[in-house]
Amino acid sequence: MEQKQDKLKDIISHAKEYGFIFPSSEIYDGLAATYDYGQLGSELKNNIKTYWWKAMVQMHENIVGIDAAIFMHPTTWKASGHVDAFNDPLIDNKDSKKRYRADVLIEEHIEKIRQKIEKEVEKGKSRFGNDFNETQFRATNPNVLRNAEKITQIEARMKSSLEDNDLEAVRNLILDLEIVCPISGSKNWTEVRQFNLMFSTELGSVAGDASTIYLRPETAQGIFVNFLNVQKSGRMKIPFGIAQIGKAFRNEIVARQFIFRMREFEQMEMQFFVRPGEEMKWYEYWKDAREKWHKNLGLGNQKYRFHDHIKLAHYANAACDIEFNFPMGFKELEGIHSRTDFDLKQHEQHSGKKLQFFDPEINESYVPYVVETSVGLDRLFLAVLSAAIQNEKLEDGTERVVLNIPPVLAPYKAAILPLIKKDGLPEKAREIQKLLQFEYNVQYDEKDAIGRRYRRQDAIGTPICITVDHQTLEDSTVTIRERDTMLQDRISIHEIQQRIADKASWRKILTDLKNN
Ligand code: ATP
Repeated sequence: MEQKQDKLKDIISHAKEYGFIFPSSEIYDGLAATYDYGQLGSELKNNIKTYWWKAMVQMHENIVGIDAAIFMHPTTWKASGHVDAFNDPLIDNKDSKKRYRADVLIEEHIEKIRQKIEKEVEKGKSRFGNDFNETQFRATNPNVLRNAEKITQIEARMKSSLEDNDLEAVRNLILDLEIVCPISGSKNWTEVRQFNLMFSTELGSVAGDASTIYLRPETAQGIFVNFLNVQKSGRMKIPFGIAQIGKAFRNEIVARQFIFRMREFEQMEMQFFVRPGEEMKWYEYWKDAREKWHKNLGLGNQKYRFHDHIKLAHYANAACDIEFNFPMGFKELEGIHSRTDFDLKQHEQHSGKKLQFFDPEINESYVPYVVETSVGLDRLFLAVLSAAIQNEKLEDGTERVVLNIPPVLAPYKAAILPLIKKDGLPEKAREIQKLLQFEYNVQYDEKDAIGRRYRRQDAIGTPICITVDHQTLEDSTVTIRERDTMLQDRISIHEIQQRIADKASWRKILTDLKNN
């Protein structure tokens, strides 16, 4: 636990030191759980967006993208159910005065039991060595079975009490499980209350109910209300998808853990409209496609796992999360939801407009069903950063901090470094910079000794350093130094573009994704 906390602290300080992420309005001591992306952070963030947009929109001829407004007609949120049901159950510890999400406290308790199971399996593995049969062990070991049964029971109680909105039962579950406050260590809990997560504000100068509008808590509704506009203007045929990247706002009860949970964050969502009855097929399809998309980044396949929702949201008939092993443990990175025809039907009712599709193949009009993929951009950013940051001990006894960011996401694809600041080397290096900058974000750096410049590029994740020396002036070759291996080789200037492309081009990562 200590170690995990330290890892998160390291990431936060590294992110600040190198211009990835700053606390918001820091000169006024910051604003809780609000962060600004700095000069390198915004590059990395844009690259993550591009990977998503290209993979989802550009590579699918039946998916198009939109950019809807953050403000929407207030009835939208009545129709979507957010005004009445977008709540989290909160509970306070009377001793520490800290506030928690009751469901998260229970989920974390379950996770601890799950860890016990994993420990037992690990023990079994080391005891039986090559003869170990994991499936059989999980199905027969009494400790594993007892803990698995515990989890099933807790999940069942949590599901029924949340679905019945029985907050007393949620509290009783916390008491029965003897869950303590991580700060005070006490079981002195308040009642559980529901708390609506939407931020509201007033439109124009008239106050009162009529002018209350909300900051969107999800980008999805901008897609639903534009369903017909896009379908008609784009001549889209079902199945088809609408994608969007944009800000969402939630007044989170507990906003901690850096950019993992913020009150203002960014989502990348895609709503896929399908024939009623075919939603489960597409749900499975998108689970698989999204898993591949994540794993294709190369952060490590073992860092992902699926988690089925215990309590389904008011609109869903199936839902799961893709979880990532963050420094704080496995947590939700992306949600995949089968949202039925709930949203479109609700908007039909509240607006009085038909939101249907005439399907020429079956000669029928219907309200399409929707499968949604929804990933948090900021969480993905944290996933990339936490998987990438490494403290390496080198053979000569020194250490280096290196960000093994997937090359295509790196803020700079290459750094161009004249060995010294004279003899025409800077001019030559500038020429190379001009050659590359049309296609790639590259950095020119002539300050400090070359070794220190390499270290700095390692720390910000630049995959390739290009060093210009006296030989460059004679034969137009440069030294290429690779971030991950630190190996160096000499190539001619006209080969540089291809070298970067082989490592860090969109074509490369998208081809890998297609071939997977
Ligand atoms: P959680 O259970 O962690 O609150 P959620 O299930 O409410 O998340 P969704 O409504 O499914 O989240 O939103 C889709 C995605 O948006 C999430 O998978 C997550 O990556 C991102 N997201 C949601 N809330 C936040 C937040 N407060 N800060 C950053 N990202 C968020």
